[in-house]
Amino acid sequence: MDSVKRPSEDEIVSVVNSIRVSAPDLGVAKLHAKIRTDFPSWSLSVNRLRAVLKAHDLSLVSGHKELNFEAQIPEEVKRRMYVEETNSSVVQGLHVPATVHVSQLAGKGKGLVATEAIPKDSTIWTEQALVFVPPPSMCKAILLGKACSYCAKPLASSVLITPCPTCSGRWCNNLCRRSDRIHKHIRHGTYSSEWAEIENFATESQWNAPYQYAHVLAACTFENQHHIQAGVEGLAKIRQDIRQQRGDPEYLSSILSGEQFEIMWQEGYVVLCKFFNHFSPPSYEDFLLGLGMVNINSFEGSIFLLQSHLNHSCDPSVDVKFVGRSGIKVTARRHLSAGEELTTSYIDTNLDIDTRRAKLLQNYGFWCICARCIHEADLALQTTSQPGDVKKKPKSKSKSKSKSKSKSGRSKQEPERARKKSVTFDDQVIEIKY
Ligand SMILES: [Zn+2]
Ligand SMILES: [Zn+2]
Ligand SMILES: [Zn+2]
Repeated sequence: MDSVKRPSEDEIVSVVNSIRVSAPDLGVAKLHAKIRTDFPSWSLSVNRLRAVLKAHDLSLVSGHKELNFEAQIPEEVKRRMYVEETNSSVVQGLHVPATVHVSQLAGKGKGLVATEAIPKDSTIWTEQALVFVPPPSMCKAILLGKACSYCAKPLASSVLITPCPTCSGRWCNNLCRRSDRIHKHIRHGTYSSEWAEIENFATESQWNAPYQYAHVLAACTFENQHHIQAGVEGLAKIRQDIRQQRGDPEYLSSILSGEQFEIMWQEGYVVLCKFFNHFSPPSYEDFLLGLGMVNINSFEGSIFLLQSHLNHSCDPSVDVKFVGRSGIKVTARRHLSAGEELTTSYIDTNLDIDTRRAKLLQNYGFWCICARCIHEADLALQTTSQPGDVKKKPKSKSKSKSKSKSKSGRSKQEPERARKKSVTFDDQVIEIKY
């Protein structure tokens, strides 16, 4: 793992961009020294670095401030960034494929880096959900035994369908039944009505985060606790109130004032605690951290441990797709060189740069300086005076799907982050007649 690697150009560019956020004026020699320190296993000569800088228009022109990305970030944006307050830690015993390792990346925290060349389109890994969360809109169908109690798939008639001997719940097959280690605790345990309140609350308020966090807690409480707790502990965490205050530019002037948000969070907390008070209830602080955690980590509503280590790029190097009932497959979108970072996109990459940056700032607390954003911002500066107007594509209307406002007005305000990737949680489901 510590063998010498020749970094790809993309990776050099990405690292240079990261370093320049905090040290915008480093000349080639100092930049080279810093890269050597941060990436001791890289084989990178000063000459090659100079060539890459030149090829990507990243050479520092003395006195020229254009490369000072920090200085380019508007003040009101800086005030809203919260990525530095997002904490994550190394997960002990994390299963990582041989082609990838977890690395601390300059300015980004944890990330995944290729240990060897990975061919385009190859599968890098598959993984099962650490915590699988059925869409809340399927809860009723699950209760009635019309959808699988574990994976929420609508059940047609099949000889494989396995009924629960105690309640009306059913599973696709034995595999789903065995995977469903919380069923007996939430469906017909002593406190199943308290769990039902959590589900009803999610459905009525159209506010998913407390429900998702309840599933995380349930997994920690009733499943193979050590494995799941260790994984959950390592996930990136940020208090939801900090996310809300910084992420929502209209926080203070919005319909729901800070106080009203507080009331809403407390309401969610009370509902959650009705169930978890019988086990080990989270503190209110844990609850806020938990909401922030599910919002920034979930993929289509569920939590995947290794996938959650992927950092963002608007020109991502990997694809993440659902496979089977509760698994995902991560494949290379292009050839990856050893030492290159694996990146995914947290947002719709068809959006224009201004919208992408705004969404990332709101939902993840950072100002994107991926190679594509830097390139597009530069182009905009060069061509006209309208930054962000380059390559403007029609906004994909389906994505923002102005989450129809609920009675309480919650869904609009909660930057319940556009689920990592394309489809929104609720898009997947429906289609079932009760
Ligand atoms: Zn199933
Ligand atoms: Zn049952
Ligand atoms: Zn970007």
